[in-house]
Amino acid sequence: MPVFSLDPAQTAWCTELRALAAERLRPLAEKGEPGRVNRPLVAALGELGLIGRLFGAGALDLCLMRESLAQACTEAETALALQGLGAHPVAASGTPEQRARWLPEVTAGRAVAAFALSEPDAGSDAAALALEAAPVGDGWRLTGEKRWISNAPEADFSTVFARTTPGAGARGVTAFLVPADRPGLTGTPLDMLSPHPIGALHFDAVPVTRADVLGEVDRGFRVAMTTLNLFRPSVGAFAVGMAQAALDATLAHTAGRAAFGGVLKDLQAVSHQVAEMATRTEAARLLVYAAAAAYDAGAPDVPKRAAMAKLLATETAQYVVDAAVQLHGARALQRGHLLEHLYREVRAPRIYEGATEVQRTIIAKELYAR
Ligand SMILES: Cc1cc2nc3c(=O)[nH]c(=O)nc-3n(C[C@H](O)[C@H](O)[C@H](O)COP(=O)(O)OP(=O)(O)OC[C@H]3O[C@@H](n4cnc5c(N)ncnc54)[C@H](O)[C@@H]3O)c2cc1C
Repeated sequence: MPVFSLDPAQTAWCTELRALAAERLRPLAEKGEPGRVNRPLVAALGELGLIGRLFGAGALDLCLMRESLAQACTEAETALALQGLGAHPVAASGTPEQRARWLPEVTAGRAVAAFALSEPDAGSDAAALALEAAPVGDGWRLTGEKRWISNAPEADFSTVFARTTPGAGARGVTAFLVPADRPGLTGTPLDMLSPHPIGALHFDAVPVTRADVLGEVDRGFRVAMTTLNLFRPSVGAFAVGMAQAALDATLAHTAGRAAFGGVLKDLQAVSHQVAEMATRTEAARLLVYAAAAAYDAGAPDVPKRAAMAKLLATETAQYVVDAAVQLHGARALQRGHLLEHLYREVRAPRIYEGATEVQRTIIAKELYAR
């Protein structure tokens, strides 16, 4: 498939997804409580078959879903992506029992998943994570804290990365599937700039056994990286969807807003700004599609491409949304306006799943490795 254009079936699917997001999902999102898991929304994503499509489908499908949903309903986009992030380790590295127990529930939108890697003292430097897995009998007891975990503390289970071998860095981390009802596990919601379900998880000697391990003991970092390599370009797709929504709103606004005896778009300073926004959005979109296609083709340079796509798309979306706010004037800053919402939403993707600076570090490392 040429990466520079979608085929007609893909284009039609994106149109259908945008319509579903606007007509079916947006009303459910509006009824949700900001910063909380919206279970009716997750259930609708399940009924529509979108969560099921996360597992087994390729990176490009994931990107098209995220971009299309983001254009019409960022809450639906995020709810879908978080089901994928939390449950992908189960799909990719789970035992048949773990998969049978959780994947049908996740896919149906009845079970909510979380991906718990970050800690108060281990964010970008994830290999420094310290959540202790102390051996007890034929299992472990988990003690410590995870923070900035999307869907926590409401998720029904979390993929939790814990330190099984002290001092071993990335090679001493194990991934565990931890159901929310384990004794000793509690959580606290966190209130963010954008309405994102997120919180901290507190582990007080939470028991886990070998049956809870995802993948191999001390090889959990690989589980995390496998998931992040798939999801990184799709964070870029989320950003492209937001940029496109901001661009569409700007086209409509500048074509209709009366100013100086004409409309805003008659001012070349305005129309050139819109042209720049459109060009940068398209460039970001193409880089995202190329990274996703490289992932699906099993290309060797996926880490570099994924990092480039995430970096460029998230930075571009920030630029485009900011420019859209400027061209809308005061109305864009009124609480409840699409751009007020996007202005808050667009900020976090430059930080999570590898901050912009971390993506540059990955790209540079790959370049000099050659
Ligand atoms: C909305 C949201 C949702 C999130 N969801 C999840 C989740 O579901 N699961 C999860 O595990 N985590 C999640 N996170 C946490 C996220 O992954 C971390 O915030 C991220 O890894 C950065 O870690 P930190 O915030 O501790 O910042 P730090 O690691 O302290 O970094 C702070 C800043 O320092 C700079 N910096 C860091 N490292 C480098 C470097 N190598 N070179 C140059 N500059 C550098 C960057 O500017 C960076 O932004 C989420 C965060 C947000 C905001």
